[in-house]
Amino acid sequence: MYVEVHRGANQIGGSIIEVGTAKTRILFDAGSELDSFDGAPLPEVDGLFDRAGFDAVFFSHNHLDHVGLAQSIHPGIPLYMGERAIAVMEAMARYLGKPLGFGVRPYQRREQVVVGDIKVTPFIIDHSAFDAYMLLAESDGESVLYTGDFRSSGRKPFDRELARLPAHVGTLICEGTNMGGKNKPSVSESELEEQATRLFRQHSGPVFVLQASTNIDRIVTMYRAAKRSGRVFIQDLYMAEIARAAAPTIPNPDFDDVRVYLDRYYSEDHHRYQAFDEYGAQKIGRAKIANQKFVLCVRALMAKMLMNLSERTEFSDGLLVYSMWNGYRDKPEVVRFLQLARSLGLTEVYLHNSGHADKETIDRLIEHVNPDKVIAVHTENPSWVNAYRKG
Ligand SMILES: [Zn+2]
Ligand SMILES: [Zn+2]
Repeated sequence: MYVEVHRGANQIGGSIIEVGTAKTRILFDAGSELDSFDGAPLPEVDGLFDRAGFDAVFFSHNHLDHVGLAQSIHPGIPLYMGERAIAVMEAMARYLGKPLGFGVRPYQRREQVVVGDIKVTPFIIDHSAFDAYMLLAESDGESVLYTGDFRSSGRKPFDRELARLPAHVGTLICEGTNMGGKNKPSVSESELEEQATRLFRQHSGPVFVLQASTNIDRIVTMYRAAKRSGRVFIQDLYMAEIARAAAPTIPNPDFDDVRVYLDRYYSEDHHRYQAFDEYGAQKIGRAKIANQKFVLCVRALMAKMLMNLSERTEFSDGLLVYSMWNGYRDKPEVVRFLQLARSLGLTEVYLHNSGHADKETIDRLIEHVNPDKVIAVHTENPSWVNAYRKG
């Protein structure tokens, strides 16, 4: 088997990785670059967009830097992704009022998909996207394991995930987002939960959480911290729809103690109004929100909602929890939102951990799968891999 990294060998995001034999060509991921825009030119990968030159594309998870090019892939090429990851993407598309834009088949954990003379096995792994996988390709006694994006600091025990992986692989294609930098060890989600609970108890004012709606682990963390500090947990419709699509065990308005709000007014025939209306008694309006102790999940585009609530309830001793990658602070809408929160009297706190493996986690993976060769991807410092070269 050969491996060709079309994109992502020395950058974070936009990964396109080809694995093949003399007979079969498959791809792991076809993502858009992190700073890409609508209408960005497609990368040159022969047989991917122009004709059905690949036998299948397997997406490791549903972050756009891995799946963003799916709509442009030639419709003759079968696409595969985790079942719950597809459900989350469909919920996002529904909220936006757009079709998903591509057909994709579900793969199941540890169930082989045979494509030509390659067998692909997905192994579930923890990441800041829900239903993320490592992908193992095997053909004629050879094996290639692609890590996708992963971490050991989530709520799934890493030991158990590791134990399912083979004890030897020929080639390991490994993400190195956090490699080559300061190597600071990750904080776990349960530690974040402790920190959040303490903060939510210490402060008497309202708590707003700015986080990615697709970061399902973080939803669980903030829900638990809200509960433990005697606050009602309130999601906006977008997060509610994503959480509900992910799994019934993820906090969503079907829980007795979770409420859902709409951040602006829509007419009764708008699809968002209709989706909201289906939540019945779990719906909550501004006046009711203002009347109680809450943790409310917000997005940077919700300045009006924040201003409106500030007129109804006291913001002093309240918190704005920044709970996403610090790189997003440069986005103009985030700059404006953080400024507004400060001007309304909220204190900003940072509570976040990375969705990616730290060095210790990568060491443990490499020790377990004992690869003959390691290829670095999803990294700005590809030379980190030299330390793992065999004799
Ligand atoms: Zn990624
Ligand atoms: Zn990712």
